[in-house]
Amino acid sequence: MFKNQTPRQLSFYIAAVSATIVVALLFLLEITGLFRISFAQIVAVFVLVFTVAFIANFYLIRYYIFRRIKLIYKIIHRHKLPSDFKADKIAMSRNILDEVEREVDEWAEKHNQDFEELERLASYRRRFIGDVSHELKTPIFNIQGFIHTLLDGAVNDPKVNMQFLQRAAKNADRLQAIVEDLETINKLEAGQMVLDLREFDIHDLTEEVFADLEMRAESRKVRLIFKEGANQHFRVRADKENIRQVLMNLIHNSIKYGKEGGVTKVSFYDMETFVLVEISDNGIGIDPEHLDHLFDRFYRADKSRSRDAGGTGLGLSIVKHIVEAHKQTVNVRSTQNQGSTFGFTLEKA
Ligand code: ADP
Repeated sequence: MFKNQTPRQLSFYIAAVSATIVVALLFLLEITGLFRISFAQIVAVFVLVFTVAFIANFYLIRYYIFRRIKLIYKIIHRHKLPSDFKADKIAMSRNILDEVEREVDEWAEKHNQDFEELERLASYRRRFIGDVSHELKTPIFNIQGFIHTLLDGAVNDPKVNMQFLQRAAKNADRLQAIVEDLETINKLEAGQMVLDLREFDIHDLTEEVFADLEMRAESRKVRLIFKEGANQHFRVRADKENIRQVLMNLIHNSIKYGKEGGVTKVSFYDMETFVLVEISDNGIGIDPEHLDHLFDRFYRADKSRSRDAGGTGLGLSIVKHIVEAHKQTVNVRSTQNQGSTFGFTLEKA
């Protein structure tokens, strides 16, 4: 019966019970003849006791609730309680305790979520720092090795001195590439990247990237071409410089992991509201077990070839971040020793 009562109802019940007990006592005294009291007096006593008890209980309960709620609110609300938060602000006709309980539950739930998010970020940070230091260790170690060997006398040996310097320089280049890619990843992951969405021709942009990568392609005798029939000049809406980076990374990979003397083909497919861009090579391909992790940070399917080619293991991770920031998708198909196809979609202008 006393479940889910409002404080006002509780005061009412307590007052009624108190008045009834007092009247019952008077009645007993009357019966035993110890005390003479008329019916009208009994009613008057009942009304008086009820009123006094009701008022006393009402204010006592309100004060008690106020003291408790104030403490709870101080804990669960970050902002200061308003200065006019006084006992008379307690709504005695509502189920105030249930309301507070609900607020505390919501507060606890939110804190739980905040806590889980903090845990996730902390573990992400730990992994990130672990990955980065692991990646930086090798080139630093190599540079140290070459320089100390040179200092220990190899500098005067014309057979090795240039070679060691070149290797040290190559490792320094790799350090720089890692740091640059890390900066890009950091911006992307911190969500700081503001997309500069414009309309442009994806075919023209691909031609520009072909031109930029011409020398690298020539060094491996890889031909960079458009697939037959992929001459449509689709206009897309995206961040041009970011998509340039996506094309750069994918086409550069097709050169690095493609067959020497092979071919990289770029094709465009009209998919109603978007365009699918695909970059295919006829190179080493990727073992199916690696496909699910390929876009992870620092993941390399072919470690030695990636390092030899100056890879950072961050290229595809950057591709994924950029494409997803455009709310588009990226995918890969590959058959070992036949080649790989990387595809991503873009919104049509
Ligand atoms: P990396 O700097 O090592 O090239 P990426 O993130 O660009 O890093 O690529 C991750 C890994 O995916 C590479 O190390 C390589 O093993 C594999 N990979 C990427 N592109 C291709 C491709 N076109 N053919 C075969 N393997 C590829």
